[in-house]
Amino acid sequence: AKRAGKNTFKFFDASLNKSALTRLRTENALRHALENEELRLHFQPQLDTRTGRMQGLEALLRWRHPELGEISPAVFIPIAEETGLILPIGEWVMRTACQQLRAWQASGSAIQRVAVNVSACQFKNRDFTNLVARILAESGLDPACLELELTESILMDHADESIGMLHQLKALGVQLAIDDFGTGYSSLSYLKRFPIDRLKIDKSFIYNIENDRDNAAIAQAVIAMAETMALHVTAEGVETREQLQFLSASCCGEVQGFFFSKPVPVDEVPETIRRLAEH
Ligand code: C2E
Ligand code: CA
Ligand code: CA
Ligand code: CA
Repeated sequence: AKRAGKNTFKFFDASLNKSALTRLRTENALRHALENEELRLHFQPQLDTRTGRMQGLEALLRWRHPELGEISPAVFIPIAEETGLILPIGEWVMRTACQQLRAWQASGSAIQRVAVNVSACQFKNRDFTNLVARILAESGLDPACLELELTESILMDHADESIGMLHQLKALGVQLAIDDFGTGYSSLSYLKRFPIDRLKIDKSFIYNIENDRDNAAIAQAVIAMAETMALHVTAEGVETREQLQFLSASCCGEVQGFFFSKPVPVDEVPETIRRLAEH
């Protein structure tokens, strides 16, 4: 090893060292997570606000480490993105979600849609459209049953290139949604040019919406804009009856959140659907 100079030692202060080590451990563990089948998908229902019918399920990634237990995607997705591991992981998510919906449909379920989160590295990869096409063909899933959720910031970063990418994806027949809408810096002129199908209002705006005037105004503005642009709109993070009533009165098309169901493992999906259909 090289002899470390004076300044190099200063660089390695204890806290940095520790976080770098944790990061390295997490990266290695994540590398093995795929092979060791530690990754799973949970599914959360998305419902028609007016009829209460389930319209689709969002696939959300879960990682249970053998020693550390459940690790939140908010923690490991950023590491997966920085290390490039999000490419094989994201591919696994998309393939598993498509195969799972196909399997449910084959067993007689009427579930019409699965929504999959797509990260920046995946979307910017030249091969992404081909990959989606291949997974759809392999799984035999109707492309219209797959919805890709892309955040506002992914799309607005290199917005001109995004338009081309989105057109390629639309040509496959999939649905496109902008996730966490309102948290980024969408330019309305670009929004008009993105061939998208849906806006998902970020849950931070749904919080206390029945009392918080700012949140109410923002959500209603997004709903009105979506209506004008002929886009579907979903509110995420609906936790209470009061929020649902407000969103229903504001003509928000779809709702998703703990009030209806938390994200559940594959084997709990049929029971969850049955329970939701009873109300
Ligand atoms: P997101 O795509 O915005 O997903 C919504 C998050 O809100 C999920 O957290 C979900 O469990 C949670 N949630 C759902 N309903 C409620 C509610 O009523 N109240 C509250 N407070 N939260 C609710 P989760 O599963 O921990 O995922 C966090 C984020 O990690 C996701 O945010 C998404 O950005 C990312 N993520 C999860 N799975 C994937 C994946 O397969 N690929 C990629 N690229 N990112 C993923
Ligand atoms: Ca999402
Ligand atoms: Ca979201
Ligand atoms: Ca979010």
